[in-house]
Amino acid sequence: MKFGGTSVQDAAAMRNVSQIVQTERGREPLVVVSACAGVTNALLSVARGAVGGGGAKALEQVEALRTLHRKIAHDLFKGEVLFSVQAQLDALIDDLRDLVKSIAILGELTNRSLDTFASFGERLSSLLLYHHFVQTMGKVVLLDVREVMITDDSFTQAAPMEKEIAERSEQLIAPRLKGGEVVLTQGFIGATREGITTTLGRGGSDYSAAHLGSALHAEEIQIWTDVDGVLSCDPRLVPSSKLLETLSFQEASELAYFGAKVLHPSTIVPAIQKNIPVRVLNSKNPKGAGTTIVRDAQIRASRQVKAIACKTGISMMNIRSTRMLLMPGYLARVFEVFSRYGMSVDVIATSEVSISLTVDSLENIDGIVAALKEFADVEVRNNMATICVVGDGLGSARDVPARVLATLDHAEVEVSILSLGASRVNISIVVSAADVKKAVSSLHEEFI
Ligand code: ADP
Ligand code: ASP
Ligand code: MG
Repeated sequence: MKFGGTSVQDAAAMRNVSQIVQTERGREPLVVVSACAGVTNALLSVARGAVGGGGAKALEQVEALRTLHRKIAHDLFKGEVLFSVQAQLDALIDDLRDLVKSIAILGELTNRSLDTFASFGERLSSLLLYHHFVQTMGKVVLLDVREVMITDDSFTQAAPMEKEIAERSEQLIAPRLKGGEVVLTQGFIGATREGITTTLGRGGSDYSAAHLGSALHAEEIQIWTDVDGVLSCDPRLVPSSKLLETLSFQEASELAYFGAKVLHPSTIVPAIQKNIPVRVLNSKNPKGAGTTIVRDAQIRASRQVKAIACKTGISMMNIRSTRMLLMPGYLARVFEVFSRYGMSVDVIATSEVSISLTVDSLENIDGIVAALKEFADVEVRNNMATICVVGDGLGSARDVPARVLATLDHAEVEVSILSLGASRVNISIVVSAADVKKAVSSLHEEFI
């Protein structure tokens, strides 16, 4: 059971989490918790402030974090317990202050340090929730996930190591669950084999939960969040979005990858391997059915559009070379450049002499352009967006592509790339970011 930031944002939310966990008590729940809402962003801003000569301001922000967590403690506990919890929170916050000071002196902020900063969020929230669980549920253990979530050392985007995680979950978590204890741990953070703190990337608590669920052969992986489940679109963009009761693993992963923030894009991977259903549920409406994500074969391809996701902050590159004509190995040469710079390419369309593609970060873009210019003309367009129209069986739905284009034409949205046929579950379109709301709303209106 993974609870996201808004599900633990204050004392009332934490009480609610405890009630939800109690209803699942008989199923030996492992609880994975995110930082309280907004705290990871605040910690990263503290880190950047500390190194940018803003040490004093960063320390002020740290004090605001102290107040926030102390207030939750104050609302949840009384007397001796309150005193002890606040002392434990203070100890963590004091470590954070020390970190700010050392970074300010060093004047250098590495990804490794960033991960240590970010880790405080989950460490603080889990500490609070743990003491609340002790009061409401008795037999509870707080496990430092860094003993189990072993990752490589790609700081800020660390990759979990499946075998180690499985072994350690078997040793450290399974016996406790079997013994009737509720095990509570942190999402998002991990550690290298040497014990250096890492994180799995923003929004990574979902991924933590999926890995731990998979390691423990869980019956299901529950992702508790602040919306009723996976909806047909981001409700912040299209308020009339509908709840999707079932999705295939593939539909869910395409949606997540193309911007449905409700699930971290990799969440589904460990679940697919072990065929564990993933349920997305609303902690503010726990009786709701939520969304169940299951193996594709269990869902009949509807050939209908089920959902629309979008991702902004995309750059598009047009790479053109007449030398490409009839030349074997040309594409390999182009993609070798992206690979050399560690950049993944998302949407692609090619014709005889040109390639259009998208990347979701501007990091290294100058190097890539320079390397490509050695053999091709390159044009870069920033501020683009990818829209992803998802539904199992879309690959063989004859009318959908035509309707997508007609709808966008009607809405006066210019389509820069259309990728069709590469996947049987999605059609991807690249448009200017300025048009994205208009485009998504009109597609939602047309299909959903
Ligand atoms: P948590 O902190 O629980 O992990 P997130 O903020 O990461 O929550 O994800 C939940 C948010 O994802 C929702 O509040 C919603 O705005 C956004 N979202 C984007 N696309 C979708 C979608 N297709 N369905 C549901 N929510 C979506
Ligand atoms: N707290 C982390 C973040 O904000 C991880 C998560 O919430 O999933 O990115
Ligand atoms: Mg999230």
